[in-house]
Amino acid sequence: MSRSTVFQNQSHWDGRAQRWGLYVHIPFCPYHCIYCDFDAGVYSRHLIPHYVAALRREMAFVGQNAPQDVIADTVYFGGGTPSLFPVDRLAEILRSLDEHFIILEGAEITLEANPESITRQRAEALRRLGINRVSVGVQSFIDEELRMLGRGHTVEDVQAAFAALRQAGFQNINLDLIGGLPGQSMERWLSTLDAAFALRPEHLSMYLLEVHEGTPLARLLAQGRLPRPDDELSVEMYYALCDRARAEGYEHYELSNYCLPGFHSRHNLKYWSDEPYWGFGSSAASYDGRERRVNVRTPRAYIDRVRQCGHATAERIPMTPERRRQEALFLGLRRIRGIDLGEFRARYGVDPWSAYEAELQPLVDAGLVVKEGGHLKLTRKGWVLSNEVFAVFV
Ligand code: SF4
Repeated sequence: MSRSTVFQNQSHWDGRAQRWGLYVHIPFCPYHCIYCDFDAGVYSRHLIPHYVAALRREMAFVGQNAPQDVIADTVYFGGGTPSLFPVDRLAEILRSLDEHFIILEGAEITLEANPESITRQRAEALRRLGINRVSVGVQSFIDEELRMLGRGHTVEDVQAAFAALRQAGFQNINLDLIGGLPGQSMERWLSTLDAAFALRPEHLSMYLLEVHEGTPLARLLAQGRLPRPDDELSVEMYYALCDRARAEGYEHYELSNYCLPGFHSRHNLKYWSDEPYWGFGSSAASYDGRERRVNVRTPRAYIDRVRQCGHATAERIPMTPERRRQEALFLGLRRIRGIDLGEFRARYGVDPWSAYEAELQPLVDAGLVVKEGGHLKLTRKGWVLSNEVFAVFV
């Protein structure tokens, strides 16, 4: 693929001020959790310098070829386990981003972290780099559940990591939790919630466990070595968190995300609001309003592709105006406030209700979607059946 074809659509947006999100994928992990199907693994540390060199090259390529300046207000290091990456390598990546893009003052800079990798010293070093938000992969506050998931940390590690982050001055911390685990009782889930809220993080994300084909979890369930998660109980766990979060003063702003006032994930909001982002690294996705691009998977393939081409695009998915509207609709419905019908009309030139009435009316009749106060949104019942709603638009 030539440079011109990779970037031919880059200049198109809709005339609004562009504030990009920059995502950097760090696929290196110290172990493999049984449920994980991300592009992440226990790769040799010898690959790290080559991977960082490829990231820098990809960033330079994008920076040089983008037809206009890319102005970013969020940076997100995801993985993998970016918190285990050598700090000087993270610094090198940030310098490269800074060299090729305009990163606005006050940008939200997030790093995903595993609890066992956060010491006071490391937390301070991350803070000095300019990281101002940390997303900690806690998953559970029960040691037995952590062991079952193949996590490499204990509850004590979580408490220590959280304290270290606070002492280092982090005032924007997310905790990731997973509900609906094999054999998990409501009592255990509620005790995980007690422990999570006791820490008073600014942000909480909760996903129900998904079983992906080819993972050790899928195998263990198929062999009957772990009990199958109970779907009905999982739904109750989800509602228990929604209610508890509200009672604790958190805003439930996206299906799986909760925050104290003003602490929404600015980066992740871009994914649900049809905003542009660049992704760097293996399997990273980019979106400019006209097309979505996805990089090759696995660090070795990524390093090779960038060496050959300067970029690592493996797949390009064109976004017709119709496709973009549909995506804006179902991604916008992930937000609890839903879609502002007036804003949607102004931005996409169609009234979502009249354009998609045939699809929407059965969802309204089934009590999954509601039109209320100028917004179209999922109902409480729709939150747990959201995949059925989104399937209509995919
Ligand atoms: S630490 Fe995260 S990315 Fe790595 S294997 Fe576990 S779940 Fe996957």
